[in-house]
Formats: sequence, structure tokens, C-alpha cells
Amino acid sequence: MPSSYPCPQCSRPTLYSISNPFRPFCSQQCQILDLGAWASQSHRIEGDALGDAEESQGEDWQA
Ligand SMILES: [Zn+2]
Repeated sequence: MPSSYPCPQCSRPTLYSISNPFRPFCSQQCQILDLGAWASQSHRIEGDALGDAEESQGEDWQA
């Protein structure tokens, strides 16, 4: 008897089966949504790092 679990993206009951190519997600849409969230998070981290570097240079010029 195959086990089911809630999809990490939409919480819909999903079958954990080898025939599901989008595991652990229920569908390709949920898989893409999760990849998009991961990409936007990494972009945000890069932006913060650049902002800190610019601020440090500004302090050096003022001092
Ligand atoms: Zn889903």
C-alpha cells in the first residue's frame, strides 16, 4: 500500500511513488514554485552583501 504525504508546497495529499517525477512535490507547478522561491532568496542575500560593501567604502571615504 503506497504511503501518501502532504506536498511541501501546497499541502495536497501526494503519493510517494517512483512514478512521480516531481517528488517530493505533487506536480511540476509546485516544483517550479519551490525553485523560484529558492532563487529569489539567494538573490536577496547577494543584494544584502553588496549593500554592506558599499556602506563600508562610504565610511572609509568619510574618515
Ligand atoms: Zn503541490
